Amino acid sequence: MSDDLTELYQQVILDHSRSPRNFRKLDGANRTAQGHNPLCGDNVSLYLLMDGDVVKDVSFQGSGCAISKASASILTEAIKGKSKSDVKALFDKVHEMVTTGRNNGADLGKLAVFAGVHKFPARVKCAILPWHAAMSAVEGKNETVSTESEDT
Ligand code: ZN
Repeated sequence: MSDDLTELYQQVILDHSRSPRNFRKLDGANRTAQGHNPLCGDNVSLYLLMDGDVVKDVSFQGSGCAISKASASILTEAIKGKSKSDVKALFDKVHEMVTTGRNNGADLGKLAVFAGVHKFPARVKCAILPWHAAMSAVEGKNETVSTESEDT
């Protein structure tokens, strides 16, 4: 990755962590999930309004580091309007990218800014945390997921 691209990615992450999108409680949400990363102190609550298998609306609240906040912010933009199976497919691609740095040519849009995270193993959990919460929410588990209770 060139330095210019790294800088651009950092700017996108900073922008989303300072001005997170969809950062509110969602009135009328019918799915919620909490994510907790004790190693970093990240907490995220996701609110989803699902119509059948489709994410009609999504928002989040939480506190934590810039990576976890930016990841949750970009996630809300990425999964809105997607079906449950689309969200799962996206989760797999993001997981692959943040753990290996490779995206196998998938067009991940803004999510690509997290490709560099694999170089910082402690940060991988911050980036993937909102995705674990999103999976829990679309599956209707309504439970708290912790990065320390499962494989990232
Ligand atoms: Zn973190």
